[in-house]
Amino acid sequence: MKRVIIVGGGIAGLSAAYRLKQNAPDVAIMLIESDRRLGGKITTDRVDGFVIEGGPDTFLSYKPRGIGLCRELGLEDRLHGTNEKIRRTYVMRHGKLYDLPEGLTGLIPSRFGPMIKTGLISPLGKLRMGLDYFIPPKSLNGDESLAQFVERRLGHELYERMIEPLMSGIYAGDGEQLSLGATFPQLRQTELEHGSLVKGMLATKRRKHPERNAVESKDAPAAQSNASRALPEKWPAFVTPETGLAEIVEALVVRLKGVDIRLGTRVTCIDHDSSSYTVMLEDGKTLSADALILATPAYATAYLVVGLDPELAQALKGIPYASTVTVSVAYPLKDIPRPLNGYGYIIPRAEGRSILACTWTSTKFPHRAPEGYGLIRAFIGRAGDDDVIDRSDEELLKMVRDELRDVLGITVGPIVQRIFRWPKAMPQYTLGHLDRLAVIDRRLAQHAGLFVAGNAYRGIGLPDCIASGEQAADQTAKFLSTRDDLLDGAKVVARDVQFADDGADSAGG
Ligand SMILES: Cc1cc2nc3c(=O)[nH]c(=O)nc-3n(C[C@H](O)[C@H](O)[C@H](O)COP(=O)(O)OP(=O)(O)OC[C@H]3O[C@@H](n4cnc5c(N)ncnc54)[C@H](O)[C@@H]3O)c2cc1C
Repeated sequence: MKRVIIVGGGIAGLSAAYRLKQNAPDVAIMLIESDRRLGGKITTDRVDGFVIEGGPDTFLSYKPRGIGLCRELGLEDRLHGTNEKIRRTYVMRHGKLYDLPEGLTGLIPSRFGPMIKTGLISPLGKLRMGLDYFIPPKSLNGDESLAQFVERRLGHELYERMIEPLMSGIYAGDGEQLSLGATFPQLRQTELEHGSLVKGMLATKRRKHPERNAVESKDAPAAQSNASRALPEKWPAFVTPETGLAEIVEALVVRLKGVDIRLGTRVTCIDHDSSSYTVMLEDGKTLSADALILATPAYATAYLVVGLDPELAQALKGIPYASTVTVSVAYPLKDIPRPLNGYGYIIPRAEGRSILACTWTSTKFPHRAPEGYGLIRAFIGRAGDDDVIDRSDEELLKMVRDELRDVLGITVGPIVQRIFRWPKAMPQYTLGHLDRLAVIDRRLAQHAGLFVAGNAYRGIGLPDCIASGEQAADQTAKFLSTRDDLLDGAKVVARDVQFADDGADSAGG
């Protein structure tokens, strides 16, 4: 029986196992996960009527494989959208909250009205944005950073006050470092195609595309072709299962019966000989497989392949990661003086705070808190602020309580609190990312039967991670069947050669 080992039990590895089990039922699949639980960044605590997400809390509906997988798992009816009654998000400026203008498409404003009215941008800043219409496209030799692009097209003020905090909400990243080509390539496409972003926006309006507000998605909307942007009318932009994203993991696990799942097992190294891969485990045991899918973070994958292919390892190691912490706290609504009348707020780097966003979860998803209670989640740690995960629980809670006292006037302690530390969790698609991907693809092509999946490569949002796992599974199934054909072909050739030899022998004898 053919054997495939998948390393990594996050959503990418689980999706790969599920797809492979469906498409290649005769293959023995083993999934190895170093943690004692499955799900990776997806982790949901259900406590006293609260649904508390430690990592992702929602996913974009327009990317097909999020809803697609939920549908296959029978979870479609369990999906909730964000609260349609209060579609409001704030941005902090000088400690005060301003409405985030509505109508943001792929990070960039796509409606004039809300931008003209917003108090977040000064009249001069708005004028500078308007200049985009007249600024010709820049001819470039290669990539540029997200910050460079937005500043040269729309001005520094819009970048600093709106785009930077939005982008941080997605990547916990530094816009000066992030590659435009790897994160929001359609912005550059719009510039080249239409001459400016404003002209592109006008052309889109004429085509009557629906707009989507992309707040607090950890997705890479642009890493997606425009074709997949067709959003089924039924779905709001962001959706999530009723009792949390862990429902997806739980449903996958049920369907992975027959897959040999090894928890608490760390892979330390892989090797390859002429016919199979060897996987070495921390306890010194070795396993062999016909094909491997490495659905681990890029730095972990680099460590696994360094003996096999140092150039591949080097390219993988070149993908930097940012650390982040989420702290969820709950209070009776009577203890929250300011009404939670929105999805929460984002905080620009220029504000000088370690907290980069606060989600008012119980407003964004009302079913996630019992009636009469407010659930709030703070994100702590910006790119370059990695030591945040070393802070004690007390320090982290104090940071959050200070923030909530300042902004919401909360003076009492929370009735529920949960802290989740995520060291090296968010891959940063920095300048050079596309070159690194090219090296990774080129080197992987030299190792038949070796595939990678996960958030390090072509999208960090859940639908992209699912798609990457499924793609790796499809490649694996194809590899195994092609190899069988080749082996059958080789056997036929060997048999013919044998016959020819036998004939020659008998002729000669
Ligand atoms: C705080 C936070 C909020 C987020 N919010 C959102 C959101 O709202 N929406 C959204 O779409 N996305 C969001 N994301 C991003 C998204 O959650 C991740 O990109 C995605 O879950 C990553 O899935 P993955 O399978 O690629 O990796 P992971 O979930 O990291 O899984 C990799 C697995 O590999 C295992 N592993 C590593 N090394 C080894 C080894 N040597 N041997 C065996 N196993 C190993 C790890 O233990 C881990 O379980 C968020 C991420 C974070 C951290």
